[in-house]
Amino acid sequence: MATKTILVKLKKPTKKKHKQFIYEQKEFSNCVNDCVERIQNGEKISSKDVPFNLKSSIKNEAIRRAKKAVSDYRKGRATTIPIFKKSLGVKINNQNWNSIEKNGRWYIAFTSNMGKKALPVVETKDVQTFFPFLTQKKKGFRGTMELLRKGKHWYVAIPIQISSELDFEKKHKRIFENMKRQKSTSIGVDLGLGHIAVVSEPFSGKRQFFSGKEVGYMRRHFCSLRRSLGKAKALRVIKRIGKKEREWMKDYNRKLAKDIVDFALQFDNPIIKMEALDDIRKTCRSMKRADKTIHSWSFYQLKQFIKEKAAKHNIPVVDINPYQTSQFCGCCGHAEKNNRYGDKFRCVKCGYTCHADLNASNNIARSTSLAG
Ligand SMILES: [Zn+2]
Repeated sequence: MATKTILVKLKKPTKKKHKQFIYEQKEFSNCVNDCVERIQNGEKISSKDVPFNLKSSIKNEAIRRAKKAVSDYRKGRATTIPIFKKSLGVKINNQNWNSIEKNGRWYIAFTSNMGKKALPVVETKDVQTFFPFLTQKKKGFRGTMELLRKGKHWYVAIPIQISSELDFEKKHKRIFENMKRQKSTSIGVDLGLGHIAVVSEPFSGKRQFFSGKEVGYMRRHFCSLRRSLGKAKALRVIKRIGKKEREWMKDYNRKLAKDIVDFALQFDNPIIKMEALDDIRKTCRSMKRADKTIHSWSFYQLKQFIKEKAAKHNIPVVDINPYQTSQFCGCCGHAEKNNRYGDKFRCVKCGYTCHADLNASNNIARSTSLAG
């Protein structure tokens, strides 16, 4: 099985964690050396009788490492049994670590003497590519990880089994082939700021833009109402306006969800695809903080309504991995940040132009990368 190892740098841990990791690394190497000696003396060891201050799963990894060193020597694969240095990486098995995405950032969570902690990582292309496959739910992709130190910096070495990647693609290909066999029609829904929603079906070229102008107008209206009342401190009235605004938004979202599902209903066996996760990151980057909350809440509500409405018509709704959906060229497949200027999409490689939100919506419809 082909394995590739990716090295992922942790963002600088706190002093306390740094010290703890150094301590644990030392315990681990001492533990391996001790086990080597005992195995050579013919002892059979289990984690229960290993007197080191480590979690039992990590003790088991130490025993495994020691066994391998001894058997490598006995079978002539190694000329000596090494004495493991205190810089030896701490092994953490697949049950005890996973990736986590929080607010659009990737973390690595793993078990140590401090319990299971999530630490932010430096986001490289490898992280972007592989971390979505290493979350808690996805069991088949995680192998034994190693916690390493180079000078002051900490890294985790993560084995990626290339064949399991292929399995993953195969599995999803099957889902999508089934969809094709049943002649499903993929409908992409892109939610955003410029347009509140763009819905499209790329093969027929049919699309519908929902401008969201009313939303902006109503928000400003409620906002100025609140401001004019704010001075008089008419709190109760302000609260009532808040409630009115929420109700208005709810009605609006319900109607919008209906329109989106109606759009899908014009096709045979439609399937609705939307981006998973953080609408917040994508839609609210340039918004004031107060607006962000109402906005992300409102998008969440809209998605819920779409799912509810679609369920009534037996239309499946699937979440798509949002990675690069807005940068990807719908014509040649080239993905780059510079492909997008505001609401215009222009591929720097092939020159294809499109409305940016429509391009994103088409990419969502074509996407075969299911999330979660
Ligand atoms: Zn292109």
